[in-house]
Amino acid sequence: MNTFPLRIGTPDGLLFEGNVKRVVCRTITGELAIMAGHCNFCTALGMGEAHVIFEDFSMRSAACIGGMLSMMDGTCRVLATTWEWQEDIDRDRASAARRRAEEALARGGLTDREHKIMEAKLHRALVRLSVKE
Ligand code: ATP
Repeated sequence: MNTFPLRIGTPDGLLFEGNVKRVVCRTITGELAIMAGHCNFCTALGMGEAHVIFEDFSMRSAACIGGMLSMMDGTCRVLATTWEWQEDIDRDRASAARRRAEEALARGGLTDREHKIMEAKLHRALVRLSVKE
C-alpha cells in the first residue's frame, strides 16, 4: 500500500507530520478514509474517532472534534479544533464531563442554546470515552 504525506495540526500547533498509509476521520457527512492517490478534496470534520495507519502498519487512534480536512496534490492536511491522541485522553475527566452533561440534560429547564451546548459536551465526552476504550 502506498504512503502519502499527512500533517495534523490544531490551533495549538503541529501534532504530527509524516508519511502514512491511511487516515480515517468522521466528517460532517460520515466516515472518510484517505489513502494515497485520493483526488483533491476538502471537507468539514465532525466529532468522532480518527485512526492513522502508519508505514509499518501500526495504528494510532484519536478523538477528533471539528475542523477541516483537505487532500491537495497528494498531501493530506487535517486542521482540527481538537485532536487528542488516545493516550492523552483523561478518562476520569471525560466521565465527569459525560455525567455533568447527562445530569443537566435530564434536569431540563435549559434554553435551546444551553441544550445544544450540553448535547455537544455529551457528544465530545462520549467520543473521548469510546476512543479510550
Ligand atoms: P470539560 O468539561 O472536561 O472541559 P469539554 O468537552 O467541554 O470537557 P473542550 O472544550 O472540548 O472540553 O476542551 C477544552 C480543552 O481541554 C481542549 O484542549 C481539549 O483537548 C482538552 N480536553 C477536554 N477534555 C479532555 C479529556 N478528557 N482528556 C484530555 N484533554 C481534554
